[in-house]
Amino acid sequence: MTFPAASRAPQDAKNAQLRLEAAKEFGALHGFLDSTFPHVGRAMTKTMVNKHSAIYHWKGTDSTQRPYLVYAHCDVVPVDDQINRPPGETQWSVDPFAGVIKDGYVWGRGAIDLKHMVVGWLEVFEDLASTGFQPKRDIYFAVGHDEEIGGANGAKEVAAWFAEHLGPDCFAFMWDEGMFVIDELIGFVREPIACVAVAEKVSSLAENCTIPVRPAGALHYSRAPRRRACVRARVRACVS
Ligand SMILES: [Zn+2]
Repeated sequence: MTFPAASRAPQDAKNAQLRLEAAKEFGALHGFLDSTFPHVGRAMTKTMVNKHSAIYHWKGTDSTQRPYLVYAHCDVVPVDDQINRPPGETQWSVDPFAGVIKDGYVWGRGAIDLKHMVVGWLEVFEDLASTGFQPKRDIYFAVGHDEEIGGANGAKEVAAWFAEHLGPDCFAFMWDEGMFVIDELIGFVREPIACVAVAEKVSSLAENCTIPVRPAGALHYSRAPRRRACVRARVRACVS
């Protein structure tokens, strides 16, 4: 969380100083991930796509089966307008990039969207790789770097990389950003609720969708998966 790595609005992307800052932040973040997960480094190959997105590949024992893809993004929404405000006016009660742990929670930008998922997947891979585990299918883990502004330089380039190297309709299964554990949002429920998102409009290679042209002004462009119901595909992936 201490590597801000914020995605910038398209007009800011033209600013050379901001571009340099972003390159430094994303470079530092990936350097941190590389040194923190050494078993991942040995078990998986990591390919950088369009400078700051990454594709990890874990070769399986049976490469005849179509691989799985899990996806997360390492960029966050900037908070410049917040942290530059005078004390008392900012909506942040802690430094959003200090990685503060307070009252049993991690506080900061990216804690739930979505650096925790980047690190969560890498923790899983690290743990498994440290035991000598090798998956049956090939597993890909893609990390985008501009999801918060539409993914044109990250997810779209990653999708193009897969189309070029693995071909169309290449994945048996794909898992993207999910939902949260919510607490005290629904009045009559006393326990925290773990939300399981069973469907979302995503640009999904797994469902044989191609990434569509972004409608002008839309940030989260997408269309619904075709062919198979998401629920059915996920249940089948879990049991196969
Ligand atoms: Zn997100």
